[in-house]
Amino acid sequence: MSQGQAGKGHTLKGIAVSPGIVIGRARLVDRSRVKILYQYLIGERQVKQEVERFKEALAAAKQQIIDVKNKMPEQIKHHAFILDTHLMIMDDSMFSNATITAILEEKINAEWALKKSVQNIAKVFAQIEDEYIKERMNDVEYVAERVLINLAGKEQESLAEINERVIIVAHELSPGDTSSINIGKVMGFITDAGGRTSHAAIMAQSLKIPAIVGLETVTHQVQDGNLLIVDGTTGEVFLDPDDDMIIQYQEKQLEQERIESSIIRMAHLPAETVDGHRVAVRANIEFLEDVAAAKDHGGEGIGLYRTEYLYLKARGMPKEVELFEDYKEVAEIIAPDPVTIRTLDMGGDRFLPDKAATKETNPALGLRAIRFCLREPMIFKTQLRAILRASAFGNIQIIFPMISGLQELLDSRKILKEVMDDLDKEGIAYDRKIKVGIMIEVPSAVAVADILARHVDFFSVGTNDLIQYALAIDRVNELVAYMYQPFHPAILRMIRQVVQAAKAAGIRVALCGEMAGDPLCTLILTALGFDELSLNSGGIPMIKKIIRSLSLEKARAELQEIFQQDTASKVRELVLNKMRGLIPELDKKLFVAN
Ligand code: PEP
Ligand code: MG
Repeated sequence: MSQGQAGKGHTLKGIAVSPGIVIGRARLVDRSRVKILYQYLIGERQVKQEVERFKEALAAAKQQIIDVKNKMPEQIKHHAFILDTHLMIMDDSMFSNATITAILEEKINAEWALKKSVQNIAKVFAQIEDEYIKERMNDVEYVAERVLINLAGKEQESLAEINERVIIVAHELSPGDTSSINIGKVMGFITDAGGRTSHAAIMAQSLKIPAIVGLETVTHQVQDGNLLIVDGTTGEVFLDPDDDMIIQYQEKQLEQERIESSIIRMAHLPAETVDGHRVAVRANIEFLEDVAAAKDHGGEGIGLYRTEYLYLKARGMPKEVELFEDYKEVAEIIAPDPVTIRTLDMGGDRFLPDKAATKETNPALGLRAIRFCLREPMIFKTQLRAILRASAFGNIQIIFPMISGLQELLDSRKILKEVMDDLDKEGIAYDRKIKVGIMIEVPSAVAVADILARHVDFFSVGTNDLIQYALAIDRVNELVAYMYQPFHPAILRMIRQVVQAAKAAGIRVALCGEMAGDPLCTLILTALGFDELSLNSGGIPMIKKIIRSLSLEKARAELQEIFQQDTASKVRELVLNKMRGLIPELDKKLFVAN
């Protein structure tokens, strides 16, 4: 990443992964990898002792992870499954047994044996070529590192012990590190390594502390105690800033806080345009624990409950009762507002541990979502039973992902009907009028939206996948990320077609992809006539604020002009100008990263 001159010191630029500005002193945390200094052969008589040494280091590592897990801050408790994964890795025979076997058979020291096991695991992972799997390899390395530290008899400084207000500077941070961060003290963190989807980045967002990763050399450029300005919105770090710069950033910080709190204060007002058109703004959630944040941010229900987490967390398949209890609790907390529960969307970049062996050349085009469920009717039925049973306790709607045509929808509805009949026979209560909808995220579903609309109660447009499939860009491939264009005229036309089909059939239409949370898209989506937008909780206050600033009539007129533009960049430019004029007081917040 680039460097430039600024203030007394200089500027570094990395990947902004968690927004906000902090000004504070650096605290360098040594997370350099343990060097294996000695790889040696051992004598027959030492073998038993060496195995014991490894077992002790492994047991200590397990205990350390359990301790971190038990003390995890509340805000990130739902990420605890990452630490469970680490415990599972330690129990895996390719990790532990293989190391012991190498010590016994090859008569090599524990460090060397462990290194070999990790290399062998890496070879297996290398053949799989999948982003998700690559992340899991990082986990194997973190775990091995923990064991190596114990083997070396070293103590590693825990981030829980930091008790001054500082900005953490490290080569990289493991999930164990971020899970034990003392959030009362740590103002932010910046690292040499890491990417947008690293655990550290995700945790920083949940903890709401500014973070920048991928700075490459920051640990070489910063010394303990240096003054830093970290702008987690732009990805800039200013080293030893001068007074003018500090004042400038303190003002920016205050301004951002002022805007933030004024928006949050109004989060519970309805999203109604100045001319009285109401849009329901709901939350996308992935865990039960997200429901509180959804309510706090003014979410009028849950527009999308992605249900994969309980499946990813479980060692086998989750039991009906576990699913039921989870769905029931979400429904009860959010009632009388609705929760739209999406049936399992496995495959693509998410898969069940025991299905990982089935390698697909194009997983995004493979056995994903509804296709997977129709192939595994028992898994599908278990989830549907749990959803239906929970529907007796609140306002639940069901949504099927990745529907590509009518037959798939009819097949899914048939299974749903079978589950309902079973519950009737067993005398188990459920909401007989439960609303059933589909995600519109495959281009073929857009083309036949008028047909599909006759068979469902509502649509929800999943633009994350719709953009992927319509523009033929892999949504997890950084190389084509620049082509991920919500403003592409093809996407806008497709979305319009879906809304028109829904209106003609008299059904509700929502949008729950990332576009719903992008402030620049709100004008278009409101003008198109969406009944509902569903997005990550943090963005709800802002989107509601924008809707409250719009006039539907004016926005509709502007839509004409927007639809005349022939490229994504022209659309973007036009919308940007319209928004700038519309709510000038929000310009700083809205356009800061542009
Ligand atoms: C989408 O595709 O837009 C969507 C909301 O679903 P997911 O991101 O979970 O695939
Ligand atoms: Mg999707």
